[in-house]
Amino acid sequence: MKVTVLETYFLSAPLPQPVRTSNSTISQVSEVIVKLTTDAGLVGIGEAHGPFLLQQGPAGLRTVGDIVQRITPLVIGQDPFHAEQIWQDLFGLTYTSVKGIPTLAKQHRQLVTAMSAIDIALWDLKGKAINRPVHALLGGALRERVPAYVTGFYYRDGERPDDLVREATTYLDKGYRTLKVKVAGLTPEADAERVKLIRKTVGPDVALMLDANQGWSLPTAERAARLLEPYDIFWLEDPMPWYDERGSLARLKTSTSIPIAAGETEYSPFGLRTMLTERLVDYLIIDSTWAGGLTTWRKAAVMAEMYQVPLAAHHDPQIHVHAVAASPTGFILESFADSTRDPLWFELFRERPEIVNGFMQVPDAPGLGLELREDTLEKYGVRIG
Ligand SMILES: [Mg+2]
Repeated sequence: MKVTVLETYFLSAPLPQPVRTSNSTISQVSEVIVKLTTDAGLVGIGEAHGPFLLQQGPAGLRTVGDIVQRITPLVIGQDPFHAEQIWQDLFGLTYTSVKGIPTLAKQHRQLVTAMSAIDIALWDLKGKAINRPVHALLGGALRERVPAYVTGFYYRDGERPDDLVREATTYLDKGYRTLKVKVAGLTPEADAERVKLIRKTVGPDVALMLDANQGWSLPTAERAARLLEPYDIFWLEDPMPWYDERGSLARLKTSTSIPIAAGETEYSPFGLRTMLTERLVDYLIIDSTWAGGLTTWRKAAVMAEMYQVPLAAHHDPQIHVHAVAASPTGFILESFADSTRDPLWFELFRERPEIVNGFMQVPDAPGLGLELREDTLEKYGVRIG
């Protein structure tokens, strides 16, 4: 079996009401979709995380289109069961030329985005070729269903305390038992007030995670953690910016009892390794849709087992359910509860794996078990390569 065609689409869907994190306003969601067709007639689909490209506008899209064109020769004609070799070739381009293709060192971030979608599509193809789900290729599912938390409590214009109570109630009604709250967009005191109200609304038996989206300095994170500790916080995610994450996470961990989660912004298995070996996190978060695909996940999952660190997925539970299910320390998926936060999640797939009572059933259809809706591709997508 050989790959014969590589198609790439960029999808972008507007949100009915923009939502804010500590450092950005989200007014649309986006994904890069790769479709690989083979001479056996199989089609594999992969997704990559789009917002990084969205921020760069049309120029960002052109760059990815150019990159896809440059790297296509490393994929066309290849056997999907040589996914590791293809990964090594594509990753090699981040620092050197490979098989006559000049290096893409200066666009390495966008390159890794494109290769994430390609790698995931190769795993989908491998599963379809042997008629088994992707988790079977990753070692086999260790659990029948995987817990999912809901990310919510974004900052919204004109927010009132009642809105938080209503939002919390909605999630509980949907069966979620783990909720994630945005912090670091207000003063620590004001964030603590929000969290206090949410804790009071959900009671003591629901897990509350906090996500600062790298919005605090170290001293502010230390002060905020002290103010938030009384509310029985399950994890504190991404407290401080990337530029000194290693130094600042190590120091924060000595001053708070709240477990730390990070890793979603790492875009290679080597960055994830550092998180583990330097013991910077209590939970490692991986996004295979921007860190180099399921091949990167697999590399990191072995290390996470050795270091006994639970793995959580960032976004795209329909893909990560396979990876979390098959990882010895696989722990939890991220999800959004409704289409106002992620219209693509609700419209992109013909049959979407449901989250029921805070769990996603591990799929048993071949490959990823996903089928794209062509009408959604047309509605929100442009072909970029
Ligand atoms: Mg996050």
